[in-house]
Amino acid sequence: MTTTTAPESQPFQAEVAELLQLMVHSVYSETDIFLRELISNASDACDKLRYEAIAAPDLIADGAPPKIWIRPDKNANTLSVIDSGIGMDRQELIDNLGTIARSGTKSFLARLAEAKDGANLIGQFGVGFYAAFMVAEKIVVISRRAGSDEVWTWTSSGGSGFEIAPAGEEDAKRVIRGTEIVLHLKKDAAKYLETYEIERIVRAYSDNIQFPIELVPEEGEPRQINSASALWQRSKSELSAEDYKEAYKSIAGAFDEPAMTLHYRAEGRQSYAVLLFAPSTKPFDLFEPARKGRVKLYVRRVFIADDADLLPAYLRFIRGVIDSEDLPLNISREMLQNNPQLTQIRNAVTGRVIGEFERLADKEQDAFAKIWDAFGPVLKEGLWEDYERREKLLGLARFTTTAGENRTLKQYVEAIRPNQTDIYYLTGDSIERLKSNPKLEAAKARGVEVLLLTDPVDAFWTSAPIDFGGKPLKSLSQGDVDFSLIPLVDDKAAAKDEPAADEATTIAAIKEALGERVADVRASQRLTSSASCLVGGGRDRMLERLLAQQNRGAVTKPILEVNLRHPLVAAIVGEKDAARDLSLLLLEQAQILEGELPEDPAAFASRLNQLVLRGLAKA
Ligand code: ADP
Ligand code: MG
Repeated sequence: MTTTTAPESQPFQAEVAELLQLMVHSVYSETDIFLRELISNASDACDKLRYEAIAAPDLIADGAPPKIWIRPDKNANTLSVIDSGIGMDRQELIDNLGTIARSGTKSFLARLAEAKDGANLIGQFGVGFYAAFMVAEKIVVISRRAGSDEVWTWTSSGGSGFEIAPAGEEDAKRVIRGTEIVLHLKKDAAKYLETYEIERIVRAYSDNIQFPIELVPEEGEPRQINSASALWQRSKSELSAEDYKEAYKSIAGAFDEPAMTLHYRAEGRQSYAVLLFAPSTKPFDLFEPARKGRVKLYVRRVFIADDADLLPAYLRFIRGVIDSEDLPLNISREMLQNNPQLTQIRNAVTGRVIGEFERLADKEQDAFAKIWDAFGPVLKEGLWEDYERREKLLGLARFTTTAGENRTLKQYVEAIRPNQTDIYYLTGDSIERLKSNPKLEAAKARGVEVLLLTDPVDAFWTSAPIDFGGKPLKSLSQGDVDFSLIPLVDDKAAAKDEPAADEATTIAAIKEALGERVADVRASQRLTSSASCLVGGGRDRMLERLLAQQNRGAVTKPILEVNLRHPLVAAIVGEKDAARDLSLLLLEQAQILEGELPEDPAAFASRLNQLVLRGLAKA
């Protein structure tokens, strides 16, 4: 039964209008993906129907199993994607096909506007339904929510909005349950009316859709064009590498190749099938706070949820399916939160994934390198969050160090210098800047390798007491270091080892000059050629700055370390007049080397100028 309300115009949410604008006016080569997106929505709708029907069997009382049809019509120049899934009511049509709810949409749009490979980005973001505007000049959606007696149409030609109206009598009669999406194709998209073209695309992207997809040709009988089986339920021996790649693409909606495929069946206290993939490229929203894992939970082949936190957050880049034989079908979303069976599965699967990483790191180093390059910063969150697996994750970690790239801690410990008791690291913004950091000077002179850490997460995990192979990790920016027992690599450096300034008087003079600005002044063991550097008393300075940026703490006063062998430092005691200026300059230089600003940049500049002028006058 339909009402006779007149069509009503509604505007698109601003982000949608912008997205459509970008898609319509850019030339993406991979327009094929629109079909994958529509089929994936149809399949989701069938999944939702099956799920809702568990609690409300009436919804499928008519007996027709959920299914998908594709119908080209050359006369009308339309391609229809039809499903007998859950359908949408009026409000759902407005909400779902007029807005984008996803976090990170704004940043995605900004990138899309600049990108050359738009289709790839579209794939990563999964703009989904709206991709159909790449091939259609007008789209009509006719939908009946399962169990409802209202049928609504949604019509849009892109642009700024859409129209919503009750369906005409004929449409209402035809659409018994679910959704019909009718694409009025653009002139240059006529190839999508060819059945071989449709079959090719479905085979490439949607073969693993669990529901039958039938092609309805203009002449002849409808025929099924996908295999419609849950691939993860099949045995490994009947599947080829190609099958897995296709499954990855259709399950994850991805374009890249998987860098890892993990397929197994657990039997025992709990039975479940697992098919997981690690992508080889980074999704755009990896660090969006709202980003969730996307591993799908099925129970006996019925889709239950794709946001059930089936893996810890530091594995949120893993895609795929876990299909349980034991969980109750009618498990509610609330129950998913702390279900003990699910917790067990989560633990066991996490262990398997880490185990597979270890195997790859050992046997297929290229594959593991891809994973680490793309997701290392995410995996390192596990060093902080997953105490139980910290040791394993540390073993997997790859670092850029003063000795080279892709170094493991195992390699570090094997190459450790005589009498070296700690694993040293330095955190900062860029490898280049870190490499010229004066705090590395003494380490270099003694051949001590230093990890150069530049991911924001590094400041966090290193703030917990951590050791590897019995060697504690120690920041070169923090506390005392003593390299004196480690032999010098270069004997010439030994000659320069004699302090030129008297420690007690020099330190006292600088302390007096700097007063409250620093927590302490010390003679440095880290420096050999630079004059000064800052170190933190408690926390790593990089971490303090990060936390301060997020309003989660204040930057504490630093400790100034000075190099007693440096002429500028040696000059302080003799230079009564300039001692204060010189001391301030040592502090300010050290701040600049840390990437910080002197408290008063103008005063710094004038101080520097005066000292230079005095120097010139003497010369
Ligand atoms: P996504 O699938 O990632 O949520 P889409 O843009 O593809 O994003 O779809 C937006 C929403 O529109 C879906 O989440 C769903 O709620 C709704 N939708 C789209 N197609 C259908 C369909 N065939 N049946 C029911 N709902 C649909
Ligand atoms: Mg979709």
